[in-house]
Amino acid sequence: MTAKVIDGKAFAAKVRAEVAEHVARLKEANGLTPGLAVVLVGEDPASKVYVKNKHASTIEVGMSSFEHRLPADTGEAELLALIDQLNADPKVHGILVQLPLPSHLNSELVINRIAPAKDVDGFHISNVGLLGTGQKSMVPCTPLGCLMMLRDHHGKLAGLNAVVVGRSNIVGKPMAQLLLGDSCTVTIAHSRTKDLAEVCKRADILVAAVGRPEMITGDMVKPGATVIDVGINRIERDGKAKLVGDVHYESAAAVAGAITPVPGGVGPMTIACLLANTMTACCRANGLAEPEGLTA
Ligand code: NDP
Repeated sequence: MTAKVIDGKAFAAKVRAEVAEHVARLKEANGLTPGLAVVLVGEDPASKVYVKNKHASTIEVGMSSFEHRLPADTGEAELLALIDQLNADPKVHGILVQLPLPSHLNSELVINRIAPAKDVDGFHISNVGLLGTGQKSMVPCTPLGCLMMLRDHHGKLAGLNAVVVGRSNIVGKPMAQLLLGDSCTVTIAHSRTKDLAEVCKRADILVAAVGRPEMITGDMVKPGATVIDVGINRIERDGKAKLVGDVHYESAAAVAGAITPVPGGVGPMTIACLLANTMTACCRANGLAEPEGLTA
């Protein structure tokens, strides 16, 4: 069997186009422009690239983008004061603090200062609790993107066996909650899981969020399964820099029914879902109906 390739780049372009349409409609009908504020502290090169891409994508769909770049030695009080100011600003519907923060800052404290309704990353403890109890919340962007692709491919997910490898707060745990919300039978695997291959082989849906290059190989995949590869790993092969996922693509694609590639799979969906979340936050803040299909 050769797996169907789930094209995250094309799917993300479709989501962004839908968001842009809703933005245009909101402007015309309600005189509203959704606004996203991104806060970057320090000079981390990868973070700077992410923030630049987020700014460009926000503008592209017609939203307002507010960038706040602060020096690496910014104090906690100053950062919290900025968040308070953004929380109170009616033009700002979504707030994202780019992680990781410099080590002298307490990320949990900072993230939990964001008003939950504006927490478009879905990392605030209130949103974590709402998601865990099956209530309306802001959903973390990467797992939301995975869910959208899975729903698109399968239609209904109810009753399918899902295995999520990885239990981080930003990917593994919320992914598992979302799959449970869609009535999958969910297993979460991690570094202490016994016989990972056997656990993975039971999965109709296998999500890899491990951070280990090509760790999930074809012999761990159930024939016909859908494999979602969240991993982004930079490696060197044959003297060249290469981006690979947590799944060994060639061997897994030979067994799976469908698979996301790296790059071009989950990655592009993350920013698309950030825009979708900002749109959702703007609608909720103004008591308007949320666009269908852009949230969990
Ligand atoms: P973390 O390092 O926070 O978590 C990794 C998880 O994998 C942990 O739960 C860990 O288990 C588990 N793990 C590690 N080694 C093994 C092993 N040998 N067997 C089974 N489980 C193992 O990573 P993140 O969740 O933040 O990210 C995961 C991957 O996704 C990374 O490659 C990251 O770059 C990528 N990513 C991609 C995004 C995108 O937009 N596409 C966004 C965010 C992340 P334990 O808890 O026991 O230590």
